[in-house]
Amino acid sequence: MTNPSNSEIDIVKSSKSKIKDVDFNNLVFGRIFTDHMFVCDFIDGVWQQPKIMPYQAMSFEPSARVFHYGQAVFEGMKAYKDENGKIWLFRPDENHKRINKSAARLAMPEFPRDYFLNGLETLLKMDKEWIKSGIGNSLYIRPFVIATEPAISASPANSYRFIIICSPAKAYYSGKVRVLFAEKYSRSANGGVGFAKAAGNYAAQFYPTALAQEKGYQQIIWTDASSHEFLEEAGTMNIFFRINDSLVTAPISDRILDGITRKSIIQLAEDNGITVEVKRVPVTEIKEAARNGSLKEIFGAGTAAVISPISAFEHAEEVFEIPDNEDSYASLFKKQLLEIQHNVSQDKHHWRHEV
Ligand code: PMP
Repeated sequence: MTNPSNSEIDIVKSSKSKIKDVDFNNLVFGRIFTDHMFVCDFIDGVWQQPKIMPYQAMSFEPSARVFHYGQAVFEGMKAYKDENGKIWLFRPDENHKRINKSAARLAMPEFPRDYFLNGLETLLKMDKEWIKSGIGNSLYIRPFVIATEPAISASPANSYRFIIICSPAKAYYSGKVRVLFAEKYSRSANGGVGFAKAAGNYAAQFYPTALAQEKGYQQIIWTDASSHEFLEEAGTMNIFFRINDSLVTAPISDRILDGITRKSIIQLAEDNGITVEVKRVPVTEIKEAARNGSLKEIFGAGTAAVISPISAFEHAEEVFEIPDNEDSYASLFKKQLLEIQHNVSQDKHHWRHEV
């Protein structure tokens, strides 16, 4: 149950902006936060009056359930500023729907749409100086929900806190990435939480990813947990393969996150007359395509880096290099997405949302 009459936001402004201390040309991803944050508590079955306050430390009892059972979900989205100073979000309704899908899987309450959008827009207007114009510049937005009830029995909490924090992000050129196809570890299982942005999904990847990094690979491409024979997802990205001129990606399932960049790329591919096959992707098929030269590209797709081209992969001790491709789909989709996001090009699918 929610309490719509309480959706008006209680605002406390910071007395002094930190923005003058920030070097916007040398931003490390996710280290600097804007002046304000949005906070809303769920108590006794009701979302309380939302607040915007100066970004600050919070205190929780050590028994808060989030610390013991990882009852926490999050989102990742971005705001953009166009050349006229207008601020835009990209498909924010999708993030709202997804955080509620994630919350439901973790037995957490759903967050009302008007609280989400109104909170987000008010926060962005207050911190608008932190959003820089120019393609590739953005403000990374992190909405998240944690179980705050001080009780350590292993059951769902009865109190939660929904928070939004924002971090300025610079155009992010990751360079080409070398990846390892997973043969032992898995990120998700049938009937599990892979489709949710549950905090623990990410912690569980750190160790296998660190092992891959020791071998010289930046990322793991996750395979299905039962057979390890089908390619499913990158660490925080969905994955696409270009075989000759068609694009191939795995279908969404309860193991794979329903990425907003992924679904936008599938639409853009159709708009560009590129064939897209959404199907299970056998490791053997990709290795064979790499051997016979029909594998033209592999790239990851997600909000943070938009598109991340992959230059090589290893599977079963065999390394495959993917030759550079001048007219890559990766650069085509990246350009088209960034231009829509920054209000440079037409937005025929109505993905942009003005703040
Ligand atoms: N897969 C996983 C596991 C992710 O964490 C993300 C990032 N949210 C994605 C895919 C890409 O999703 P999106 O395009 O919505 O950012």
